[in-house]
Amino acid sequence: MSRIRIVGGTITKTTGGDYNIYSDGNIVYNSGTAVAETSDTSIVYGEPKDAPEKKIVSKIKVEFRPNLGWEGEFGFDWARTGDSQMPVDVPYSSIIGKYGSVYATDSKAVFTFDNALYQKKLLEYESFLLVDFGKYYVPNMTLMIGETAILDASIEVLEKPDSMRYKYDESIFEVLILEKLSNKEGKHYNDKVIQIKCLKEFSAKQKIELIATKDKINTRIGQINLLPNNVVKELDVLFIPVKHNGTTGAVKGNEMKILSNAFKQAYIKGNIQQYTSYVEVGGWWFDLFFTTKDKKGNKILDRSDVRSLHSALDSAFFDDDANEIYKDHYRLYMMSNGTINGEAEAIGNAKTVVVFQGRNDSTAPHELMHAMGLYHTFDNDGKFTYKLHKTDNIMDYTHQTKNSKTGKQNERFSTNKWQWKILNKKM
Ligand SMILES: [Zn+2]
Repeated sequence: MSRIRIVGGTITKTTGGDYNIYSDGNIVYNSGTAVAETSDTSIVYGEPKDAPEKKIVSKIKVEFRPNLGWEGEFGFDWARTGDSQMPVDVPYSSIIGKYGSVYATDSKAVFTFDNALYQKKLLEYESFLLVDFGKYYVPNMTLMIGETAILDASIEVLEKPDSMRYKYDESIFEVLILEKLSNKEGKHYNDKVIQIKCLKEFSAKQKIELIATKDKINTRIGQINLLPNNVVKELDVLFIPVKHNGTTGAVKGNEMKILSNAFKQAYIKGNIQQYTSYVEVGGWWFDLFFTTKDKKGNKILDRSDVRSLHSALDSAFFDDDANEIYKDHYRLYMMSNGTINGEAEAIGNAKTVVVFQGRNDSTAPHELMHAMGLYHTFDNDGKFTYKLHKTDNIMDYTHQTKNSKTGKQNERFSTNKWQWKILNKKM
């Protein structure tokens, strides 16, 4: 755009404050007589400064969320506000804090929200300022080579933009637009808007940005960060059936799938196998682990001695020299009897886990992740402590609760970025 003004007489401009002129090109003064510059203090020459940004920005915010069909097959950790369609999605602004001296699972436990810890949790997410909306917290996502992820969008439009487009490295990702984003004024939740496929390994953090254009001005209105996936850790896990008192433990339902998904979230490639035979234990000395009696008089595991149960199973297993090849594997012993679901040998630095047949599908992954260093999400010893039953995190006890809307049993399958770093030190 150009403008030429011709005035026959004199032009005088007077301002009470500063008078600034910016140009991306040249500023040329031509005079038939003299050019005069005067100042009451000094005349300063220096580096050119940028003109202030124009205020015409798109008034729209788009936040990406996992789709209801998400089973944890990729990592997605976002600053939860409860706006997704996931069955367990409680705003972090009410569930991050600490428990008192009584452990979370006790009915007398007292949870107190802690704003400083909540703010610390928000620092886990990159953020930027979005005019009219405030801080935008960018989700952290993990996606292994060849894997795909389908995401929803939570949208708020104050003014319709002229257009919107995704911006990302096309050599690394293939982004399919499954549904056009709503752009009418108001709040919308769009199901399955994009499918992201990872085409190759990347060693630097990647962004998928959503850019809106209004009056030819571009504004970033949405973003997802993908953590470098060149840090894949390979890990061997062996599910071992244990025969005791004539019955043998076995793999349950979806547990291997839940485990391999949870591993993927932390860029772990799990080599998960089942031992083709079984290990048999028994005799009076082994029965000593089961000296406690339940209400019906059945002998059950004496939990005070559970640590030695792990080493007793290990020594029975390694009695067979051929099993030496499994000495660096995580060993998951499956027993048929026992009134607890399972127990890891220790939190971190442990290789042995015992699970019992009464367990649920997420017990084995849960116990294994204890052995790999994760505390319960509701444990005061973790980096962050969340209120019991309020997350779908694999280290919560949410599977004990039912969804108030659907009446279905809730599931646990997710992990957060700070947990990924414990499970996979390369991250
Ligand atoms: Zn546990």
